[in-house]
Amino acid sequence: MSDPKPIAAPNASSNASASALSAAAGANAESIAENIRAAILEHRLAPGAKLTEAQLCEVFAVKRGTVRQALAQLAGERLVDLEPNRGAFVASPSLQEVQEVFEVRRIIELVVVERIGKGHGMRRLKSISATIGRERRAFENRDFSAWIRLSGEFHAELASLTGNTVLCECLSGLVARSTLISALYESLGKSSCSFEDHEEILAALDPGDAAKAATLMAQHLRDVELKIPHAARSI
Ligand SMILES: [Zn+2]
Repeated sequence: MSDPKPIAAPNASSNASASALSAAAGANAESIAENIRAAILEHRLAPGAKLTEAQLCEVFAVKRGTVRQALAQLAGERLVDLEPNRGAFVASPSLQEVQEVFEVRRIIELVVVERIGKGHGMRRLKSISATIGRERRAFENRDFSAWIRLSGEFHAELASLTGNTVLCECLSGLVARSTLISALYESLGKSSCSFEDHEEILAALDPGDAAKAATLMAQHLRDVELKIPHAARSI
């Protein structure tokens, strides 16, 4: 992990995290986590911003233990980094982490298209086509959160056609991590996945052209990866 920046929010000030959060009466660890999660995903809190416990206690009018519980929950979701003796920071995945996630995705997803190209789950390709249709409609209806979720589902559903549950579990975790990294760095409402790319991959798989599908998948994952470091470098 790269060194977290102190407070990287626009108009950074000692109150940056306080002003980004809206306290409600009767806050508990769950509602505080939800509040901070929304502030991070809506970019009111930037990657690397410091989350000061004392400030959060004041904003939510709760004791330190409740704030710590909320921060621990967010750390479990990789949205927050807890640094010993330094405190809590909004996660700021490094370029190395992005590269590692995509390196493993490439390995797994090339196996996926190769297996499907050889006949695994070929009969179920229609359900993938329906998912891409939903992606397109979500984009056209400007339902961006559904679009981002469905982009990830395309990759997970394709993997499920291999019938290998361990592979599916690994890939689901990596897709969730990629989506989170995109959410941290990219403009709100943008998916780094293109459904046109997904359509092309499916069109290659349909007649069983595994080699072409593998080339397209490798290119797609490279494109998605390159969008993320570009944004990460600019913060
Ligand atoms: Zn994709």
